[in-house]
Amino acid sequence: LSRPRYRGRFAPSPTGDLHAGSMVAALGSWLLARHAGGEWRVRIEDLDPPREVPGAAQRQLAMLAACRLHSDVPVTSQSARSELYAQALDRLLASGLAFECHCSRSALAAAGGVHRRCVAARRRPDPAVRLKVPDSAVVEFDDGLCGAQRQDVAIAVGDFVLRRADGFWAYQLAVVVDDAAQGITDVVRGADLLESTPRQILLQRALGVPTPRYMHLPLVTDGAGRKLSKSEGAGAVDPTRPLDALGAAWRRLGQRPFAADDTACWLAEARLRFDPARLPRDNQASTDTKCS
Ligand code: GLU
Repeated sequence: LSRPRYRGRFAPSPTGDLHAGSMVAALGSWLLARHAGGEWRVRIEDLDPPREVPGAAQRQLAMLAACRLHSDVPVTSQSARSELYAQALDRLLASGLAFECHCSRSALAAAGGVHRRCVAARRRPDPAVRLKVPDSAVVEFDDGLCGAQRQDVAIAVGDFVLRRADGFWAYQLAVVVDDAAQGITDVVRGADLLESTPRQILLQRALGVPTPRYMHLPLVTDGAGRKLSKSEGAGAVDPTRPLDALGAAWRRLGQRPFAADDTACWLAEARLRFDPARLPRDNQASTDTKCS
């Protein structure tokens, strides 16, 4: 199977409505894919039912549709892909790269919070599964906007969870399996996930799948400097005003404002005008006082 030249994605978790920050990731990933003459797809990351908000996935898709940001292939949902995650986990367990962990949250916290060896006093009926992170696990990568990155995963996070004790799949496993299975070449997303990337690269190496290129876009913060959070209902964007949402995301992507009569014209124009060299490089979160 040959890899596509450029395939990007937008992968919201349905933990609330899309907000100004999600729109930056949605529009940014779409523009970069279009600029590269590549594909763009949408994946709903609905693998954490306790945190999910009923109807949020539908409202997120409705917002994208109002903005005419349509996935090039049918939208996939992680909740329907458990089989793939189970296969990946079985491979890691069989090769000794992952292990069952009986540690309780409190025992782990007492041991410093970073898992390096099991401290469980007794076996649990429902162990978590973690990736065994080697003692020196320095991961380096070059982020398309944030530049050279380096993290020792053993020190920063330790052995990390792949399947939770409550039986749900961890984001880190599902995102790596899906990006690989879907042939994603370019991950463009919010800078809140910059520090997750080294874990995802370690996992890609363990699974023997390619590492995509990464670009982390500046976060949108509220007046107090806090990252907007879908689950806290921060600044949801209005599907009846797609041009406002697109225009705001466009400005946050460092692009020069312009006017258009409707969404279709706006998008066509944005494709032509988009200049990746103008993307904000310093990765300082841009403050949005309107959202405070
Ligand atoms: N599902 C994640 C979120 O909504 C994004 C995952 C990703 O882009 O890798 O924050």
